Amino acid sequence: MIIRGIETNRIAVPLKKPFKTALRTVETAEAVIVRVHSDDGLTGWGEAPPTVVITGESLDSIESAVIQSIKPALLGEDAADFERVFEKLHKAIAGNTSAKAAVDMAVYDLLSKKAGLPLYQYLGGYQNALETDYTVSVNSPDEMGEDAAQYVENGFNVLKIKVGKDEIAKDIERIIEVRNRAGSNIKIRLDANQGWEAKEAVYSIRKMEDMGLNIELIEQPVKAKDLDGLKMVTDNVATPIMADESVFSPEDAFEVIRNRCADLINIKLMKAGGIYQAEFINRMAQMAGIECMVGSMIETRLGISAAAHFAASKKNITRFDFDAPLMLKQDIFQGGLRYEKNKIYLQNEPGLGITGIADYEEVL
Ligand code: MG
Repeated sequence: MIIRGIETNRIAVPLKKPFKTALRTVETAEAVIVRVHSDDGLTGWGEAPPTVVITGESLDSIESAVIQSIKPALLGEDAADFERVFEKLHKAIAGNTSAKAAVDMAVYDLLSKKAGLPLYQYLGGYQNALETDYTVSVNSPDEMGEDAAQYVENGFNVLKIKVGKDEIAKDIERIIEVRNRAGSNIKIRLDANQGWEAKEAVYSIRKMEDMGLNIELIEQPVKAKDLDGLKMVTDNVATPIMADESVFSPEDAFEVIRNRCADLINIKLMKAGGIYQAEFINRMAQMAGIECMVGSMIETRLGISAAAHFAASKKNITRFDFDAPLMLKQDIFQGGLRYEKNKIYLQNEPGLGITGIADYEEVL
Protein backbone atom coordinates (compact mmCIF):
# COMPACT_ATOMS: atom_id res chain seq x y z
CA MET A 1 0.00 0.00 0.00
CA ILE A 2 2.72 2.46 -1.02
CA ILE A 3 1.44 6.03 -1.24
CA ARG A 4 2.05 7.11 -4.84
CA GLY A 5 -0.01 10.27 -5.20
CA ILE A 6 -1.84 12.96 -3.27
CA GLU A 7 -4.10 15.41 -5.10
CA THR A 8 -6.48 18.18 -4.09
CA ASN A 9 -9.41 20.02 -5.59
CA ARG A 10 -11.90 22.57 -4.30
CA ILE A 11 -15.65 22.34 -3.97
CA ALA A 12 -18.35 24.83 -2.96
CA VAL A 13 -21.97 24.00 -2.15
CA PRO A 14 -24.56 26.59 -1.03
CA LEU A 15 -26.41 26.22 2.28
CA LYS A 16 -30.22 26.16 2.50
CA LYS A 17 -30.14 28.86 5.22
CA PRO A 18 -27.18 30.92 6.51
CA PHE A 19 -25.42 29.22 9.46
CA LYS A 20 -24.94 31.82 12.23
CA THR A 21 -22.93 31.47 15.43
CA ALA A 22 -21.31 33.91 17.86
CA LEU A 23 -18.17 33.66 15.69
CA ARG A 24 -19.34 33.75 12.07
CA THR A 25 -21.99 33.49 9.36
CA VAL A 26 -21.61 30.90 6.58
CA GLU A 27 -23.66 30.81 3.37
CA THR A 28 -21.61 28.40 1.28
CA ALA A 29 -19.85 25.21 2.34
CA GLU A 30 -16.39 25.28 0.81
CA ALA A 31 -13.76 22.60 1.13
CA VAL A 32 -10.55 21.15 -0.20
CA ILE A 33 -11.08 17.52 -1.23
CA VAL A 34 -8.00 15.32 -0.87
CA ARG A 35 -7.39 12.04 -2.65
CA VAL A 36 -4.55 9.73 -1.64
CA HIS A 37 -3.62 7.01 -4.16
CA SER A 38 -1.70 3.83 -3.35
CA ASP A 39 0.23 1.53 -5.68
CA ASP A 40 -2.36 -1.25 -5.34
CA GLY A 41 -4.96 0.89 -7.10
CA LEU A 42 -6.87 2.11 -4.02
CA THR A 43 -7.95 5.71 -3.44
CA GLY A 44 -8.60 7.24 -0.03
CA TRP A 45 -10.85 10.32 0.28
CA GLY A 46 -10.59 13.27 2.66
CA GLU A 47 -12.06 16.74 3.17
CA ALA A 48 -10.98 19.95 4.88
CA PRO A 49 -13.26 23.00 5.17
CA PRO A 50 -11.67 26.44 5.72
CA THR A 51 -12.74 27.61 9.19
CA VAL A 52 -10.60 30.72 9.48
CA VAL A 53 -12.08 31.95 12.79
CA ILE A 54 -11.55 28.59 14.53
CA THR A 55 -8.56 26.76 13.05
CA GLY A 56 -7.04 29.72 11.17
CA GLU A 57 -7.09 27.80 7.90
CA SER A 58 -8.23 29.01 4.47
CA LEU A 59 -8.69 27.11 1.18
CA ASP A 60 -5.26 28.39 0.07
CA SER A 61 -3.49 27.42 3.29
CA ILE A 62 -5.07 23.95 3.32
CA GLU A 63 -4.05 23.25 -0.28
CA SER A 64 -0.58 24.54 0.32
CA ALA A 65 -0.12 22.50 3.51
CA VAL A 66 -1.26 19.31 1.76
CA ILE A 67 0.70 19.75 -1.47
CA GLN A 68 3.82 21.64 -0.33
CA SER A 69 4.43 20.08 3.10
CA ILE A 70 2.49 16.85 3.68
CA LYS A 71 2.70 15.26 0.23
CA PRO A 72 6.51 15.19 0.04
CA ALA A 73 6.64 13.67 3.55
CA LEU A 74 4.25 10.81 2.72
CA LEU A 75 5.08 9.85 -0.88
CA GLY A 76 6.75 6.42 -0.94
CA GLU A 77 5.56 5.49 2.57
CA ASP A 78 3.59 2.27 3.10
CA ALA A 79 0.15 3.30 4.43
CA ALA A 80 0.05 0.03 6.39
CA ASP A 81 2.85 1.38 8.61
CA PHE A 82 0.40 3.95 9.85
CA GLU A 83 2.16 4.73 13.13
CA ARG A 84 5.04 6.08 11.04
CA VAL A 85 2.78 7.63 8.41
CA PHE A 86 0.96 9.67 11.07
CA GLU A 87 4.22 10.61 12.77
CA LYS A 88 5.41 12.04 9.42
CA LEU A 89 2.05 13.69 8.76
CA HIS A 90 2.11 15.56 12.08
CA LYS A 91 5.80 16.47 11.84
CA ALA A 92 5.51 17.78 8.28
CA ILE A 93 4.04 21.12 9.37
CA ALA A 94 2.92 22.78 12.61
CA GLY A 95 -0.77 23.58 13.12
CA ASN A 96 -2.88 23.19 9.95
CA THR A 97 -5.11 20.68 11.71
CA SER A 98 -7.81 20.58 9.03
CA ALA A 99 -5.29 19.90 6.25
CA LYS A 100 -3.86 17.10 8.39
CA ALA A 101 -7.34 15.75 9.15
CA ALA A 102 -8.17 15.51 5.43
CA VAL A 103 -5.04 13.46 4.75
CA ASP A 104 -5.50 11.39 7.93
CA MET A 105 -9.05 10.38 6.95
CA ALA A 106 -7.91 9.52 3.42
CA VAL A 107 -5.23 7.23 4.87
CA TYR A 108 -7.81 5.58 7.18
CA ASP A 109 -10.09 5.18 4.15
CA LEU A 110 -7.22 3.35 2.40
CA LEU A 111 -6.41 1.18 5.42
CA SER A 112 -10.00 0.06 5.97
CA LYS A 113 -10.54 -0.52 2.24
CA LYS A 114 -7.48 -2.74 2.22
CA ALA A 115 -8.83 -4.59 5.28
CA GLY A 116 -12.17 -5.02 3.52
CA LEU A 117 -14.07 -3.39 6.41
CA PRO A 118 -16.21 -0.27 6.71
CA LEU A 119 -14.11 2.25 8.63
CA TYR A 120 -16.21 2.08 11.82
CA GLN A 121 -15.49 -1.66 12.08
CA TYR A 122 -11.82 -1.16 11.32
CA LEU A 123 -11.73 1.28 14.27
CA GLY A 124 -13.74 -0.78 16.75
CA GLY A 125 -17.23 -1.33 15.36
CA TYR A 126 -19.21 -0.35 18.44
CA GLN A 127 -22.40 0.62 16.57
CA ASN A 128 -23.53 1.22 12.98
CA ALA A 129 -26.30 3.80 13.41
CA LEU A 130 -26.28 7.21 15.11
CA GLU A 131 -28.76 9.96 15.95
CA THR A 132 -27.72 13.52 15.13
CA ASP A 133 -28.94 16.76 16.65
CA TYR A 134 -29.90 19.77 14.51
CA THR A 135 -28.49 23.26 15.00
CA VAL A 136 -30.67 26.34 15.46
CA SER A 137 -28.65 29.35 14.25
CA VAL A 138 -28.52 32.46 16.42
CA ASN A 139 -31.22 34.91 15.26
CA SER A 140 -34.12 36.77 16.89
CA PRO A 141 -35.96 34.70 19.55
CA ASP A 142 -38.99 34.54 17.23
CA GLU A 143 -37.08 33.22 14.24
CA MET A 144 -35.24 30.69 16.44
CA GLY A 145 -38.52 29.44 17.90
CA GLU A 146 -39.93 29.12 14.39
CA ASP A 147 -36.83 27.19 13.22
CA ALA A 148 -36.92 24.92 16.27
CA ALA A 149 -40.57 24.01 15.66
CA GLN A 150 -39.72 23.22 12.02
CA TYR A 151 -36.78 20.94 12.94
CA VAL A 152 -38.88 19.06 15.51
CA GLU A 153 -41.56 18.57 12.86
CA ASN A 154 -38.82 17.26 10.53
CA GLY A 155 -38.06 14.50 13.05
CA PHE A 156 -35.23 15.85 15.21
CA ASN A 157 -35.32 15.05 18.95
CA VAL A 158 -32.18 16.95 19.95
CA LEU A 159 -31.67 20.65 19.17
CA LYS A 160 -28.40 22.53 19.51
CA ILE A 161 -29.09 26.20 20.12
CA LYS A 162 -26.45 28.74 19.15
CA VAL A 163 -26.17 31.57 21.70
CA GLY A 164 -23.49 33.98 22.97
CA LYS A 165 -23.71 36.54 20.15
CA ASP A 166 -24.95 39.53 22.20
CA GLU A 167 -26.14 40.17 25.77
CA ILE A 168 -26.94 37.10 27.79
CA ALA A 169 -30.46 38.30 28.77
CA LYS A 170 -31.33 38.05 25.08
CA ASP A 171 -29.98 34.50 25.04
CA ILE A 172 -32.35 33.53 27.84
CA GLU A 173 -35.23 34.97 25.79
CA ARG A 174 -34.07 32.84 22.85
CA ILE A 175 -33.91 29.67 24.93
CA ILE A 176 -37.35 30.26 26.47
CA GLU A 177 -38.82 30.74 23.00
CA VAL A 178 -37.14 27.59 21.64
CA ARG A 179 -38.20 25.52 24.69
CA ASN A 180 -41.81 26.74 24.33
CA ARG A 181 -41.96 25.95 20.62
CA ALA A 182 -40.05 22.66 20.75
CA GLY A 183 -42.00 21.23 23.70
CA SER A 184 -40.76 19.48 26.82
CA ASN A 185 -39.78 16.14 25.23
CA ILE A 186 -37.01 17.60 23.07
CA LYS A 187 -33.43 17.63 24.33
CA ILE A 188 -31.90 21.10 24.16
CA ARG A 189 -28.16 21.71 24.28
CA LEU A 190 -26.59 25.18 24.05
CA ASP A 191 -23.44 26.33 22.31
CA ALA A 192 -22.13 29.76 23.34
CA ASN A 193 -19.04 29.52 21.09
CA GLN A 194 -16.89 31.42 23.67
CA GLY A 195 -19.41 34.28 23.82
CA TRP A 196 -19.80 34.67 27.59
CA GLU A 197 -17.65 35.80 30.52
CA ALA A 198 -17.27 33.20 33.27
CA LYS A 199 -19.24 35.05 35.96
CA GLU A 200 -22.13 36.04 33.70
CA ALA A 201 -22.22 32.44 32.49
CA VAL A 202 -22.56 31.11 36.05
CA TYR A 203 -25.25 33.68 36.86
CA SER A 204 -27.25 32.94 33.71
CA ILE A 205 -26.91 29.16 33.77
CA ARG A 206 -28.14 29.10 37.37
CA LYS A 207 -31.06 31.25 36.27
CA MET A 208 -31.84 28.77 33.47
CA GLU A 209 -31.70 25.97 36.01
CA ASP A 210 -34.10 27.83 38.35
CA MET A 211 -36.47 28.47 35.43
CA GLY A 212 -36.58 24.74 34.69
CA LEU A 213 -35.46 25.17 31.07
CA ASN A 214 -33.96 21.68 31.26
CA ILE A 215 -30.73 22.21 29.32
CA GLU A 216 -28.84 18.98 28.58
CA LEU A 217 -25.38 20.59 28.35
CA ILE A 218 -23.64 23.85 27.46
CA GLU A 219 -20.75 24.01 25.03
CA GLN A 220 -17.82 26.36 25.39
CA PRO A 221 -19.31 29.17 27.50
CA VAL A 222 -16.01 31.12 27.70
CA LYS A 223 -12.95 31.93 25.57
CA ALA A 224 -10.96 28.95 24.31
CA LYS A 225 -7.82 29.86 26.27
CA ASP A 226 -9.68 30.70 29.49
CA LEU A 227 -9.35 27.31 31.18
CA ASP A 228 -9.67 28.89 34.65
CA GLY A 229 -12.94 30.48 33.58
CA LEU A 230 -14.14 27.21 32.05
CA LYS A 231 -13.39 25.39 35.30
CA MET A 232 -15.07 28.10 37.33
CA VAL A 233 -18.28 27.67 35.31
CA THR A 234 -18.07 23.86 35.50
CA ASP A 235 -17.58 23.93 39.27
CA ASN A 236 -20.42 26.35 39.94
CA VAL A 237 -23.39 25.06 37.97
CA ALA A 238 -25.29 21.75 37.91
CA THR A 239 -25.70 21.72 34.10
CA PRO A 240 -22.92 19.71 32.38
CA ILE A 241 -20.32 21.91 30.63
CA MET A 242 -18.63 20.76 27.43
CA ALA A 243 -15.24 21.95 26.14
CA ASP A 244 -15.11 22.54 22.37
CA GLU A 245 -12.76 25.32 21.17
CA SER A 246 -10.62 24.77 24.33
CA VAL A 247 -9.68 21.30 23.08
CA PHE A 248 -7.88 20.98 19.76
CA SER A 249 -5.01 18.57 20.45
CA PRO A 250 -4.60 15.60 22.80
CA GLU A 251 -2.35 17.91 24.89
CA ASP A 252 -5.24 20.40 25.26
CA ALA A 253 -7.51 17.52 26.28
CA PHE A 254 -4.96 16.41 28.89
CA GLU A 255 -5.00 19.89 30.50
CA VAL A 256 -8.81 20.05 30.55
CA ILE A 257 -9.11 16.52 31.92
CA ARG A 258 -6.49 16.71 34.64
CA ASN A 259 -7.82 20.03 35.95
CA ARG A 260 -11.46 18.94 35.52
CA CYS A 261 -12.20 22.11 33.55
CA ALA A 262 -15.20 20.51 31.84
CA ASP A 263 -17.63 17.60 32.25
CA LEU A 264 -17.63 16.65 28.57
CA ILE A 265 -15.44 17.12 25.47
CA ASN A 266 -16.48 17.85 21.89
CA ILE A 267 -14.00 16.20 19.51
CA LYS A 268 -13.76 17.43 15.93
CA LEU A 269 -11.38 15.89 13.42
CA MET A 270 -10.62 19.36 12.02
CA LYS A 271 -9.37 20.54 15.43
CA ALA A 272 -7.57 17.35 16.43
CA GLY A 273 -5.82 16.88 13.06
CA GLY A 274 -7.67 13.65 12.23
CA ILE A 275 -8.75 10.31 13.61
CA TYR A 276 -5.32 9.21 14.89
CA GLN A 277 -5.17 12.20 17.27
CA ALA A 278 -8.88 12.05 18.08
CA GLU A 279 -8.35 8.49 19.36
CA PHE A 280 -5.96 9.81 22.03
CA ILE A 281 -8.46 12.43 23.20
CA ASN A 282 -11.30 9.94 23.44
CA ARG A 283 -9.21 7.33 25.30
CA MET A 284 -7.92 9.87 27.84
CA ALA A 285 -11.43 11.19 28.40
CA GLN A 286 -12.81 7.66 28.76
CA MET A 287 -10.26 6.84 31.45
CA ALA A 288 -11.28 9.97 33.36
CA GLY A 289 -14.99 9.20 33.07
CA ILE A 290 -15.60 12.06 30.65
CA GLU A 291 -17.93 11.25 27.76
CA CYS A 292 -17.30 12.78 24.34
CA MET A 293 -19.41 14.18 21.56
CA VAL A 294 -18.12 14.23 18.01
CA GLY A 295 -19.05 17.28 16.01
CA SER A 296 -17.95 18.89 12.78
CA MET A 297 -17.40 22.18 11.00
CA ILE A 298 -19.62 23.04 8.03
CA GLU A 299 -18.60 19.93 6.09
CA THR A 300 -20.12 17.85 3.32
CA ARG A 301 -21.07 14.20 3.72
CA LEU A 302 -17.45 13.19 2.97
CA GLY A 303 -15.89 14.84 6.03
CA ILE A 304 -18.87 13.80 8.14
CA SER A 305 -18.39 10.20 6.99
CA ALA A 306 -14.96 10.06 8.60
CA ALA A 307 -16.25 11.73 11.78
CA ALA A 308 -19.32 9.49 11.97
CA HIS A 309 -17.36 6.28 11.38
CA PHE A 310 -14.93 7.30 14.12
CA ALA A 311 -17.75 8.30 16.49
CA ALA A 312 -19.73 5.10 15.90
CA SER A 313 -16.69 2.93 16.61
CA LYS A 314 -16.22 4.11 20.22
CA LYS A 315 -18.28 3.35 23.30
CA ASN A 316 -17.26 6.58 25.05
CA ILE A 317 -18.64 8.76 22.24
CA THR A 318 -22.25 9.24 23.25
CA ARG A 319 -23.39 12.38 21.45
CA PHE A 320 -23.35 13.22 17.75
CA ASP A 321 -23.50 16.61 16.04
CA PHE A 322 -23.57 15.70 12.37
CA ASP A 323 -26.23 17.96 10.88
CA ALA A 324 -23.94 19.91 8.51
CA PRO A 325 -24.64 17.83 5.35
CA LEU A 326 -28.38 18.33 5.94
CA MET A 327 -27.87 22.10 5.74
CA LEU A 328 -26.52 21.90 2.19
CA LYS A 329 -28.67 22.44 -0.88
CA GLN A 330 -27.09 19.44 -2.54
CA ASP A 331 -25.33 16.20 -1.58
CA ILE A 332 -22.50 15.99 -4.11
CA PHE A 333 -20.96 12.65 -3.07
CA GLN A 334 -21.82 9.17 -4.31
CA GLY A 335 -21.79 6.13 -2.02
CA GLY A 336 -21.18 5.98 1.73
CA LEU A 337 -23.37 6.52 4.77
CA ARG A 338 -27.03 7.38 4.48
CA TYR A 339 -29.23 9.90 6.34
CA GLU A 340 -32.84 9.19 7.23
CA LYS A 341 -34.27 12.21 9.05
CA ASN A 342 -32.26 12.36 12.33
CA LYS A 343 -30.64 8.92 11.85
CA ILE A 344 -27.35 8.10 10.17
CA TYR A 345 -26.80 4.56 8.90
CA LEU A 346 -23.21 3.60 8.16
CA GLN A 347 -22.68 1.62 4.97
CA ASN A 348 -21.40 -1.96 4.77
CA GLU A 349 -18.92 -1.31 1.96
CA PRO A 350 -15.24 -0.97 2.95
CA GLY A 351 -13.69 2.31 4.03
CA LEU A 352 -15.79 5.47 3.91
CA GLY A 353 -17.70 4.00 0.98
CA ILE A 354 -17.42 7.22 -1.06
CA THR A 355 -17.12 6.34 -4.75
CA GLY A 356 -17.10 9.71 -6.49
CA ILE A 357 -18.37 13.24 -6.86
CA ALA A 358 -21.69 13.72 -8.67
CA ASP A 359 -22.25 16.41 -11.26
CA TYR A 360 -23.23 19.54 -9.42
CA GLU A 361 -23.45 23.25 -9.95
CA GLU A 362 -20.18 24.81 -8.84
CA VAL A 363 -20.71 28.16 -7.16
CA LEU A 364 -17.07 29.26 -6.99
MG1 MG B 1 -19.26 24.12 19.51
